[in-house]
Amino acid sequence: MNNKISVRKCEEYDLNKIIDLISDIYTKTGGPEVKGKKVLLKPNILSENNPARCVSTHPVVVEAMIRFLQSRGATVFTGDSPAIHTHRFRGEKCGIRQVCEATGAIWVDFMVNPVEKKIGNREVRIASIVDQADVIISLPKFKNHELMYFTGAIKNTFGLLPGFSKAKQHAVFSDRIGFGKFLVDLNEAITPDYFLMDAIMGMEGPGPGPKGFPVAIGLLLGSTNPLAMDLIASRIAGYDPITLPTSKTALLRKKWLQSENDIIYDGPEISSIIKKDFKRIPISVNNNISLQFIKKRIPYSRRFERRPFFIHENCTGCHKCVNICPMQAIKPQTSNKTKIVLTDSQCIRCFCCAEVCTDDAIDIRVKIFGV
Ligand code: SF4
Ligand code: SF4
Repeated sequence: MNNKISVRKCEEYDLNKIIDLISDIYTKTGGPEVKGKKVLLKPNILSENNPARCVSTHPVVVEAMIRFLQSRGATVFTGDSPAIHTHRFRGEKCGIRQVCEATGAIWVDFMVNPVEKKIGNREVRIASIVDQADVIISLPKFKNHELMYFTGAIKNTFGLLPGFSKAKQHAVFSDRIGFGKFLVDLNEAITPDYFLMDAIMGMEGPGPGPKGFPVAIGLLLGSTNPLAMDLIASRIAGYDPITLPTSKTALLRKKWLQSENDIIYDGPEISSIIKKDFKRIPISVNNNISLQFIKKRIPYSRRFERRPFFIHENCTGCHKCVNICPMQAIKPQTSNKTKIVLTDSQCIRCFCCAEVCTDDAIDIRVKIFGV
């Protein structure tokens, strides 16, 4: 790992252009040698959605990376595990499965024979391909995340946990800071060897699921260093990285960078590519220990937090939200399976429910009165 990051302007999903840019970025940032190696590509799929929704890494970026690696003599494996990973999940709606078939990359089902690994002080289930691959390359998407504010390189590694194992970690690490520390622990235990971020189109507003809004960012970013990538990407989105739980924890630990000033940046002047109008997730007062202390003493203060709201007229009664909720905080009404009800006192605001709902039936907002 080094401290270099390269950023290139790229405004369209043009396969040959992206292959050329990857070649340039990968060389400049010291990407790992892959000749004769088994390489796992880990895009961000999150859930089955059309690529135009910008929920997943775009299939053309995945294809470009596969073709680039194959041209360098690698055998490429590709996979991800969404929060709800049933036997029906095939990675087809996002177009990545078809890319595997077209290129000969091997699709991996993370649910098959996962292994236990020590992350921090806990045993956690991880996709077994992690032990079989010589090189892991992460392909995060530039987008917002209701819980972590911004999802980037460090967060994308979370998809190595198969299916419901992810929701279980939300139950254990039930606040933003604790969950951010867990994500950094995870990346310290399993550090992908390279990160290429798809920021050609990104997602602003209430991400990371299909409720967020696609937005043109026009960039590709590459680095061997997850923290360097997250610091630069989140600055481009207009966040102060120290307000992001993952970046703050990683900066304090000084494992990947001693400070932000140590980043060796290669790309357009940062001030010229910052998206000032990017619709960011409001930073919660829970990030501030003194404000938390005051908040705990104000009656009904949870009412001022962003929380899930169920739009009954859009609900199809699929119950994916009910099944994913790590706290059993949501239930369908017995008389009407499309009327989902939240027990607010049990909700930890992990927003897994909103991530898995593909029917625009869950909003995240502040609503002081009503349920
Ligand atoms: S709110 Fe969404 S995920 Fe939950 S049951 Fe309704 S449609 Fe399904
Ligand atoms: S209701 Fe939604 S936000 Fe609340 S704990 Fe359950 S999954 Fe998380």
